[in-house]
Amino acid sequence: MVAVLVPRLRPFTSTIFAEITQLAVEHGALNLGQGFPDTDGPASLLADAQQAIATGANQYPPAPGLPALREAVAAHQRRCHSLSVDPDDVLVTMGATEAIAAAVIALCEPGDEVVVFEPYYDSYPAVVAMAGATRRTVALRAPDFQPDPAELRAAFGPRTKAVLVNTPHNPTGTVFGSDTLRAIGDLAIEHDAVVITDEVYEHMTFDVPHVPMATLPGLADRTLTISSAGKTFSVTGWKIGWVHGPAELVAAVRAVKQFLTFAGGAPFQPAVAKALGEADYPAISAGLRPKRDLMVTGLREVGLRVFEPRGTYFVVADLAPLGVTDAAAYARAMPAKVGVAAVPVSVFCDDPDLAPTLLRFAFCKRDEVLLEALRRLAA
Ligand code: PMP
Ligand code: GLN
Repeated sequence: MVAVLVPRLRPFTSTIFAEITQLAVEHGALNLGQGFPDTDGPASLLADAQQAIATGANQYPPAPGLPALREAVAAHQRRCHSLSVDPDDVLVTMGATEAIAAAVIALCEPGDEVVVFEPYYDSYPAVVAMAGATRRTVALRAPDFQPDPAELRAAFGPRTKAVLVNTPHNPTGTVFGSDTLRAIGDLAIEHDAVVITDEVYEHMTFDVPHVPMATLPGLADRTLTISSAGKTFSVTGWKIGWVHGPAELVAAVRAVKQFLTFAGGAPFQPAVAKALGEADYPAISAGLRPKRDLMVTGLREVGLRVFEPRGTYFVVADLAPLGVTDAAAYARAMPAKVGVAAVPVSVFCDDPDLAPTLLRFAFCKRDEVLLEALRRLAA
């Protein structure tokens, strides 16, 4: 029998999102597990992509991305975050996922270390392992999921090559403020590490600003900033993402990306370029806020301890008050037993004691779906 998976990848045989969605489909459960909206993005965006197909945008786009999209990303960074970005330093990727993977693979060699916060987005440990590097985790603990300064410092060392920051943070919904980002940035400078920031939820915050790491003094020249259209425009299946940063770092990411996918998403790129210029960004958070409030209140009424998110479209709740000790087992039984699917937070952690009883619910769903899910949970 051939060993089909190299040893360092064995822990990552399947994603929890695919597993939970599969269970939801099998049992006809309401899927608050995998994070995707149940309504499509703006009609004009969908029409623009259809128009692009009809008018011949069906062959390879330029490998670095369509110039119009790279310009639109730079303009977006200027308009939304007062960041000055040269379109030549923007690389279009197949979702944020490819940008993260290409960045880590470009920067790391076996023996290098990457600092990640746990719970982490599931692709982070997998791509760090693919690069042959080692992850050093910093815990984010309930109730506010902010890093402890001493633990943060201890995670950095002479082999630190990069730190992967995700704010607003999936799965906890926490948002890192300027002080936390400054502390991370200072450690990156001290250890000459690159900051990779995953900002796919940049337009989903409640009462707090999103601070891009690259806006902090002294950090732009060592930061790769990543985002994507999937969350912002409710088109998670389009997989149009981007990364920007200093020219030499982006060149390294481009060198990897060209051998992963080379290029893709030709008809989606002009559509996203146009949407980036036209979008009403505050409306995104404003539309999500009532859903967040509905879920926070509803889950509390069910008897769970709920950690109100400051960003993203996820809410984390603790099942311990209901006597549940293993949320992972509970989440796998829920689609059949309760008719609702959610994701256990423990699968995003190295430390088995960090979040054994926490569940993540996605609230990017129609109100009637959220209400019915809460009704089923209460029953
Ligand atoms: N990072 C985080 C934190 C995410 O939640 C997701 C899921 N959308 C991604 C990256 C992947 O983004 P994309 O679908 O654009 O690859
Ligand atoms: N980002 C989505 C989530 O966190 C899932 C993406 C995926 O299925 N890989 O739920």
